[in-house]
Amino acid sequence: MTDPVAPAPAARALPVVPARRDPRPGIAGLTEAEVVALVGELGEPAFRSRQVADAAWRSGAADWDEVTTLARPLRAALAERLRFDTVAATTIRVAEGSTTEKALHALSDGRLVESVLMHYPGGADRRERNTLCISSQAGCAVGCPFCATGELGFERDLEVAEIIDQVRHASRRMVAPGRHLTNVVFMGMGEPLLALDAVLDAAAALTDPARFGLGARHITISTSGVVPGIERLTLLRPQWTLAISLHAARDPLRDLLVPLNRRWPVADVVSAARAYGEATGRRVSYEYVMIDGINDTATDADAVGRLLRSSGAHVNCIPMNTVAHTPWQASPPARIAAFADRLRAGGLGVTVRRNRGQEVGAACGQLAAEQAGEPPAPTVARRRELLEAASAAALRGERSFEPAPAGLGPERRQPGRPAGPRRPATVARRRPAPSRGR
Ligand code: SAH
Ligand code: SF4
Repeated sequence: MTDPVAPAPAARALPVVPARRDPRPGIAGLTEAEVVALVGELGEPAFRSRQVADAAWRSGAADWDEVTTLARPLRAALAERLRFDTVAATTIRVAEGSTTEKALHALSDGRLVESVLMHYPGGADRRERNTLCISSQAGCAVGCPFCATGELGFERDLEVAEIIDQVRHASRRMVAPGRHLTNVVFMGMGEPLLALDAVLDAAAALTDPARFGLGARHITISTSGVVPGIERLTLLRPQWTLAISLHAARDPLRDLLVPLNRRWPVADVVSAARAYGEATGRRVSYEYVMIDGINDTATDADAVGRLLRSSGAHVNCIPMNTVAHTPWQASPPARIAAFADRLRAGGLGVTVRRNRGQEVGAACGQLAAEQAGEPPAPTVARRRELLEAASAAALRGERSFEPAPAGLGPERRQPGRPAGPRRPATVARRRPAPSRGR
């Protein structure tokens, strides 16, 4: 069921003209010590730092002008150094009886990122949940061909405050209906483990009782399989849930569906994820987007079963959201059910998920892709053709000769592991729309 697609009352129009990036950091990205130091530099007494932090984290204000607990000259001095909010403008679309709210945020340089707020009402045996899905990058370098963000290509990492401000925005919007955020998932645009420094700082702020104050167990980080990032997390042992975007258990197919598999093969990803599970005592979950005729056969299910056997992992099967540039569709419900049953028979925990907010383009990056404009028809047709050829080869079991995507970080080949096969990239990226300032 779809509600009429309407902007929320507080929504401001997105800027048409791209701007230069605002050099002032956002207040939300500052640690407590940094706020104390800044307040000292401004010649204010130390107790003001608590008031400044409260303005950012407790007040519900959307701008320095609304922070009436601070004198006007101090507000002006702070505004010169810091942005109260790093999001320049937001448009909202609502769906599913207002239980799903999709926000498209314009950043100071005109880049667009998305967050999705999902409300799950409570019941006799469960508490109400309000989950926000946030972005860590504008665009993404990994380039999964079923993903609208992958199609945009990589634009830039988000600043710490730009990540957190998606959460502060959602929190402010929840005051009126009397709700509060219970979960944050890094499953929006971008690959969080390729922006790990900022993601760690953002998560620290979100879980700090003096700042946002969410329990660490209420944070999920999803990765397409950046092995060094998973290893770094394992050393830090956070209590977050780690979700691995698996989508295929066989390398030839995963080379195509999740192109970083050409750098970090699926067995290495799963073994890094197992180590994370063992170090943290947290169950790792695996996301599996179901694509009709591509990764949904009994053979695929058996390969997943063998790969994850005795890992205590949980698999979420998600019907693919249709995106403009691929010939692929979601698997039919009966095939998804049969796939899930086969995984269960192999001893895995399985949930079949709905992809919420699909009708408002709520899958990863779809609204931003819409704003970027349709690529020219011949580009789409060529890309579809190449994907069809590549998927036919993958289904025959041939490994990809494409190089791993650029932008995955420095090569760190393990001793004894040969370099992957190489041949020039053939699937062309969409040209960025001129109105987006690139
Ligand atoms: N880059 C990270 C996190 C962001 S993507 C990752 O890939 O895990 C978050 C999830 O959305 C991933 O599991 C991804 O596979 C899924 N996704 C992307 N495009 C989708 C589509 N068209 N339909 C359904 N799920 C999709
Ligand atoms: Fe990037 Fe994740 Fe989309 Fe793949 S699914 S392109 S890793 S955002």
